[in-house]
Amino acid sequence: MLPRLVKLAALMGRSRAGHLSVACGLVVALAAAATLPPAASRSVAVADAGANSHNLSIVTAEETGREFHGVAQDALGRIRHMHGQGVDSPEQFGRKTVSLPVNQDPRRHTAAMPGISAVLLAGRRGTTMQASWSWPTVPTDVSDREDFLVFAGKHPPTSFIKAPPSRRRTDRWTQLPARSIAAPGRKLPGIVGGSLHLGSFEDPFARSALRNASAAAVFRSDGVRLAQHPHLDPDSGRQYRGTPGFRRLAGSADHGILRHSGGVSAALAGWRIPARSLFGVTALAELIVAGIVVLGVRQLRAQERLVAAAAVAMQAEAVRAQAMSKLAVARRRDTGEREAHLQAQRFDVALSNMIQGLMMVDNAGRLLVVNRRFTELFGLPADTARLAGNYAEIVELMVGCGNVAPRDTETMRAWRKSAIANSGRSNFTWELADGRVLMVTHQTIQDGWLTTYEDATQRRRADARMDHMAKHDALTDLPNRVQFRESLEAAMTYARRGNLVALLCLDLDQFKAVNDTLGHPAGDALLQAVASRLTERIHETDIAARLGGDEFAVVQAPIDRPAEAADFAERLIAMLDEPFEVHGHQVIIGTSIGIAFAPQDGLDADELLKNADLALHRAKSDGRGAYRLFHAEMDAEMQARRLLDLDLRHALRGGQFELHYQPVMDLRTQAVSGFEALLRWKHPERGMVPPSQFIPLAEEIGAIVPIGEWVLRQACVAAASWPDALCVSVNLSPMQFNSRNLVAAVAAALREARLAPARLQLEITETVMLQDTEATLATLHDLRNLGVSIAMDDFGTGYSSLSYLRRFPFDRIKIDQSFVREIGKRRDCGAIIRAVIALSHEFGMATTAEGVETREQLCALALAGCSDIQRYLFSRPVPLRDIPAMLGSMPLVADLLPQASLVA
Ligand code: C2E
Ligand code: MG
Ligand code: MG
Repeated sequence: MLPRLVKLAALMGRSRAGHLSVACGLVVALAAAATLPPAASRSVAVADAGANSHNLSIVTAEETGREFHGVAQDALGRIRHMHGQGVDSPEQFGRKTVSLPVNQDPRRHTAAMPGISAVLLAGRRGTTMQASWSWPTVPTDVSDREDFLVFAGKHPPTSFIKAPPSRRRTDRWTQLPARSIAAPGRKLPGIVGGSLHLGSFEDPFARSALRNASAAAVFRSDGVRLAQHPHLDPDSGRQYRGTPGFRRLAGSADHGILRHSGGVSAALAGWRIPARSLFGVTALAELIVAGIVVLGVRQLRAQERLVAAAAVAMQAEAVRAQAMSKLAVARRRDTGEREAHLQAQRFDVALSNMIQGLMMVDNAGRLLVVNRRFTELFGLPADTARLAGNYAEIVELMVGCGNVAPRDTETMRAWRKSAIANSGRSNFTWELADGRVLMVTHQTIQDGWLTTYEDATQRRRADARMDHMAKHDALTDLPNRVQFRESLEAAMTYARRGNLVALLCLDLDQFKAVNDTLGHPAGDALLQAVASRLTERIHETDIAARLGGDEFAVVQAPIDRPAEAADFAERLIAMLDEPFEVHGHQVIIGTSIGIAFAPQDGLDADELLKNADLALHRAKSDGRGAYRLFHAEMDAEMQARRLLDLDLRHALRGGQFELHYQPVMDLRTQAVSGFEALLRWKHPERGMVPPSQFIPLAEEIGAIVPIGEWVLRQACVAAASWPDALCVSVNLSPMQFNSRNLVAAVAAALREARLAPARLQLEITETVMLQDTEATLATLHDLRNLGVSIAMDDFGTGYSSLSYLRRFPFDRIKIDQSFVREIGKRRDCGAIIRAVIALSHEFGMATTAEGVETREQLCALALAGCSDIQRYLFSRPVPLRDIPAMLGSMPLVADLLPQASLVA
């Protein structure tokens, strides 16, 4: 605030000088404006007045001259007349002058000459003889008059003008010029005199334009003033002979014109009015300006006082700041010392507690600092800093303690060069003789260098562990898919150089069953055991990996011939066919293998993996427990499968499905108890596509759910058209159990077809039982609650776990045709069938034998106590419309079986 005030005041100070200058300038300008024009006009007025006076005086002089000259001429004329009358003595004069003509003349003359107010003739004794103002003339004594006395003197002049009376009563009385009548050299007979009206020469002045601004006077030659304008009585007849002005007049050749101040003053009367107005306005303006200036000055003084106050405050502030600054410096000094001490302490603590070992050396090689951690890292004595004075000595100590190899001293020297080359800082990894790994940072400092050492052994190990985990399977410790892909890429580089590389993809055949029946820990143990056998058998150059789940892969690089890979695959199959001991159980799984070769089957890792996978797929679909080499056709088959996939998605909408029905024969009643609905796809180009080809595909793409619901509806409608004793069996896919809509779909199908639930049998496979068991069981119970019966289909092909039969009370067990087919050939098959039938009886379940093609099979099954037969022997599946015909042509059970084998 204060500095701003001072700054403002300074600005105001500057403006104050400016304001004063402006004010003064304004006053001067106004004065000049008011003075210069009047001065100029004054000079002009004075000059004009002079010129006018000059002209007037000339005119007045001429006019006055003419008046006097007239009077004089009149008097001379009278005198000449008298002389002509012979009047040349006083006596004659006396006689003549009393005669009338003479007496009448004065009146005539005075009337003719307005300037002459009176004429008189006086005799030698001074008695008036004729006077123009009276007739007959009353004699009057004028001998005491000045003019008479002058003419009566010793040296009388020819004419004389009398001084005007000092106090005239009337302005008619003015002057009386007189003339002696005496002839030259003669005695004075008398005088002729006249009275001049002073106004006759004062009037020209009065008429002139300058009458108010000027004055004019007529003087007698002896300095007596005769007349003047303006008329001043007291001055008439006054003597001016000795005055300087008159003396100048007497010597002037210019009609005796004299200017004096009074005249100039009068001449300036006209100039004064505008000049006064101008001066007045100017004075007023200057007064205002002066007022403003006074106010301004007061304001400026106030500002000056403010500035002064601000300056004082500033000064006080500066003094205070200085004092504070000194105080602060003093405090800082104290604080700085304390801080320095504290800092040193902190530095010591920091050095002692650093996780890095630290060594600081100056350019002369002197050891500046080593911390405790440094001595610990290299196993040096605690007083190393005292023992070693320079770098060479401490290196010697380090080598002496055995952790630093003598050759490492070269490495340490190289760090410094490297740090200098790398803008003063470089990082290194240093492996000590005892296996520890140090992270070394070498840094140049102003007058030396600083090296820090951090034990990174643990971090290195952790990193290595993390890296290993990222690239290896946690369960088996085999390389995972990521690592395997990298290895395969590397092998591809090898193959691109013309070397033969084999990729084997393995899929365990029965792993899922083990996992589901024995539990996940058993499944994990099995996978670890498989991995262990794999790593034992592969060559050092081969790479085995777990790609996920029960999938494994092996890369053989290099091999000389494809047969090597085939032999190896056979060995692997045999090896994995051997039973495993898992958590006290003997487990037999087996494996299928697909093989692809680089470069012939592909030089790209992904392509080779895809092809080996196709071969694996073929191996599995061909019955498992075998290997298949990749062929280009497999790819074509895969393409065909993709096309089939596309067609299948449109088959339901296109009405390409139909149901065929295969009869089920009840051996005890020897009558058809019902039919199994079997789905058929009548492809417009491919013809009849068997379920084994499209059902897995439909399951894969999720189309099986709507297709299955369609089958349910169709089968129920068909069964509803049959006699009440006939049932219908419908196959359910495990996928339908996942849809959570199955129970509702079954109920809807029954409702829509108005079919009694007891006439519907649903067939599930073991795969259903392998799924989320609790949910599956709940669904099965819900279905059972609808009133339908449930059959276990294809029993014996999968895991045939008896626990299934314990977990859900199936109504029927359908023995898979693979057992039936072998029933007369292999004893074990017969034994299994008999055991299953016996078990079913125990559980109260019916049994159906599938795929009965021969009478022998039929007899064996009948003897074994099988309740139902489903077989080609009786009929192949037929469309709904062919059922009556089929039933009519179907052979009787009694005709096929010997009487003894018939069930009682
Ligand atoms: P499955 O349920 O076991 O059906 C019995 C199969 O055995 C039928 O084959 C039938 O034609 C055949 N078969 C019956 N007697 C004999 C015989 O004496 N000898 C021989 N060699 N075979 C016989 P199909 O019709 O090819 O059905 C195959 C499988 O497709 C069925 O096996 C069933 O699992 C599945 N399947 C058929 N229709 C459907 C369906 O609508 N839904 C579902 N999810 N699966 C179905
Ligand atoms: Mg079936
Ligand atoms: Mg079956």
